[in-house]
Amino acid sequence: MTDLRITTTRGTDIVLDEATVEGFKTSLRGSLLRSGDAGYDEARKIWNANVDKRPALIARCVGVSDVINAVNFARAHSLLISVRGGGHNIPGNCVCNGGLVIDLSRMKGIRGGGGNFGIVTSFEFRLHPVGPILGGLLLYPFAQARAVLRTLRDFNLSTPDALSVFGALLTSPEGDRLVGCVVCYNGPIEQGQALIQPLRDQTSPMVDLVGPISYEQMQTLLDEALPFGLQNYWKSEFLNGLPDAAIDTLVDHFAAAPSPLTQIILEQFGGAYRRVASNENAFSHRDFDYNFVIVSRWVDPADAEPNIQWARNLWNAIQPYAAGVVYVNYLEAGEEGASRIRAAYAQNYDRLVDLKSKYDPSNFFRLNQNIKPSN
Ligand SMILES: Cc1cc2nc3c(=O)[nH]c(=O)nc-3n(C[C@H](O)[C@H](O)[C@H](O)COP(=O)(O)OP(=O)(O)OC[C@H]3O[C@@H](n4cnc5c(N)ncnc54)[C@H](O)[C@@H]3O)c2cc1C
Repeated sequence: MTDLRITTTRGTDIVLDEATVEGFKTSLRGSLLRSGDAGYDEARKIWNANVDKRPALIARCVGVSDVINAVNFARAHSLLISVRGGGHNIPGNCVCNGGLVIDLSRMKGIRGGGGNFGIVTSFEFRLHPVGPILGGLLLYPFAQARAVLRTLRDFNLSTPDALSVFGALLTSPEGDRLVGCVVCYNGPIEQGQALIQPLRDQTSPMVDLVGPISYEQMQTLLDEALPFGLQNYWKSEFLNGLPDAAIDTLVDHFAAAPSPLTQIILEQFGGAYRRVASNENAFSHRDFDYNFVIVSRWVDPADAEPNIQWARNLWNAIQPYAAGVVYVNYLEAGEEGASRIRAAYAQNYDRLVDLKSKYDPSNFFRLNQNIKPSN
């Protein structure tokens, strides 16, 4: 090892001498990687290949003591840090340029933390037996897109908690634009079949892949369609209902999407999530029927501009139907700005600022959808 230039929380660089870095390395049970080390480039890659950051150090933690040692080391030298779980976050807040990545991706149970208040190293949850469930895709030619999405909207008005049906605009591997329904019913299979029969009758799917499957199959249903390593730019918004004109906007824009990998997802919300008070958790938005996500994806980094611009144009066009609030996990990076983070937490934001001011007054955990401390 040689001396190491590394970025601090002030945005300036300092130089750590070789012995200091070596001391940190030997304090870890996991590995410590820097540029040039075998595995460094692999370790800085995340799901969205449009993010290409070069940390000075990556601490690949394998247990709680590694996480504590990494936090203490970073605090002692005022280092800029990011915290990595699964690396699935679209803006890439889990990696940083020039700083230290505290990488928990080898601690497999710990994925997906909000990130503003510390580092989660374990959690307990109660499991319930689920399945087999009734799930899968209904697919239709794109010419039916308006009719299918209108029928789905009306159908979803009277479905029980146990049934959820998302809408999607997508392109087949052969290059044909399609409209789809993603069905998930958690209950007796026959009851589920009876519940979705009216949807089938009214829409006549070209391909019907809905049947009894395990819960794990449902969870991984879309994995192959959403692989690691593509260029991604997402934009999202809760919608105030889904009038015909909003559906027309989605369909018209999708017809002009520059990349066949791009999708538009209409996530249906309702049921139990509605029955939690909006100030009970950090998440506040419980009154909307749909969350809409533009999943703009392409292969060649040189194609970024038309794909990003297309997504922004659609997002602007949908604004008349938008609620003006967003789900925090779908926020893009910097361009969305502090006001969008506030909008994501809405009435709960000020309470989160109080907590941040108490537990992280120096904003040590800052590479996230950042809630800034009041000082
Ligand atoms: C294909 C796809 C589908 C998705 N679908 C959904 C969906 O249906 N619902 C949904 O909510 N989100 C969805 N997302 C978004 C994704 O789940 C979130 O961005 C989530 O935060 C990613 O978790 P991660 O562990 O991979 O986080 P990372 O990308 O590793 O990090 C994200 C943020 O969390 C922080 N963080 C990570 N681990 C920890 C930890 N242990 N302690 C503290 N902070 C930590 C990081 O510092 C960073 O700020 C989807 C993403 C993809 C790529």
